[in-house]
Amino acid sequence: MPELPEVETTRRGLAPHIEGRRIRSVTLRRPDLRWPIPPDITQALPGQRIDAVRRRAKYLLIDTAAGSALLHLGMSGSLRVLPAATPVTAHDHVDITLDGAEGRVLRFNDPRRFGCLLWQPVGEIHPLLQGLGPEPLSDAFDGDYLFALSRGRKAPVKTFLMDQAVVVGVGNIYAAESLFRAGISPLRAAGKVSRERYVALAGAVKEILACAITRGGTTLRDFLSPDGAPGYFEQELSAYGRGGEPCPRCGRPMKHASIGQRATVWCGHCQR
Ligand SMILES: [Zn+2]
Repeated sequence: MPELPEVETTRRGLAPHIEGRRIRSVTLRRPDLRWPIPPDITQALPGQRIDAVRRRAKYLLIDTAAGSALLHLGMSGSLRVLPAATPVTAHDHVDITLDGAEGRVLRFNDPRRFGCLLWQPVGEIHPLLQGLGPEPLSDAFDGDYLFALSRGRKAPVKTFLMDQAVVVGVGNIYAAESLFRAGISPLRAAGKVSRERYVALAGAVKEILACAITRGGTTLRDFLSPDGAPGYFEQELSAYGRGGEPCPRCGRPMKHASIGQRATVWCGHCQR
């Protein structure tokens, strides 16, 4: 499943190829993905110039003067910029045809259709983007912020960290990795973690996400290729998916349990 680093890699991969381009037409091969695709997408977008491609949480926003197309990759979605004559394959649900001598199309493929394509009018914030916490790589997200927000909270710190109202885009994998690096047990009540340890946790979240985005940069050329899965990449993980295996730090077996219905792995010795 594409996580925040994959979405940011997608944004960086697409931007140089679509920013500044004018949209010639929009082709929908089905009326819905996870949700119905609103008529504004086919009515308002053609003729508009793409001013920017932005990311908020795991959503991509394609900004035009008329409004923004709001896109989520869901479980299995991917975007590519292809020659317009590239044959359509299974699960190619949406084409946004661009102007320019190259005759290119921005194509959205999503086998499982948990992705979405929605519309955000100018001056409005889509309901899906309301009530979200800060971006993890922004200055607004730091140890002091986590410490202040967590006082009195009894939920496990892992659940707290994965709450999109606390901080966006820290999914199960990155929560497990960050807590391992910071030496904090995922079971500990969020309100019982010290300021110092939250400083370490915020630093770990930023380092791990930034490292994953840098690694994803090697896949950027794939955004112009009809093969492969651009923006998806292998990562070296210390905790996630390693239940029962030796801890990379102390060698003792890693514990695993379900916290908030999410599989969780941690070291009972290194994480307190
Ligand atoms: Zn250990």
